[in-house]
Amino acid sequence: MKLRKKDKPESHAVPIPSEMLANWAPRCPVCHETIHEQATVERFGEPRDWQFWGYPGSRWRRCEGETGGKRFVHFRVDVNGRLYGRLAWIRPAEDKAMQEALL
Ligand SMILES: [Zn+2]
Repeated sequence: MKLRKKDKPESHAVPIPSEMLANWAPRCPVCHETIHEQATVERFGEPRDWQFWGYPGSRWRRCEGETGGKRFVHFRVDVNGRLYGRLAWIRPAEDKAMQEALL
């Protein structure tokens, strides 16, 4: 049996600004799949042209949920024929605006 060389996951790396890394989970809290990259965003899929979201037709939503009061969406992207798990934490901007309106 041949030993398979481990591919280093370098080519898929997406630069993520540090302020978008407030949350971090090594695995999806729902399905426990390995998460390769994650970021905190205002809305799922925005900004549209960000590589983080993968390419149209090569992205699949896997599951979503909430942990510690933070909502997230787990999705997979196909980058050069390999699947990567990514987690988008949704910043509760709308909730905050609503609370302020109520005060
Ligand atoms: Zn999941």
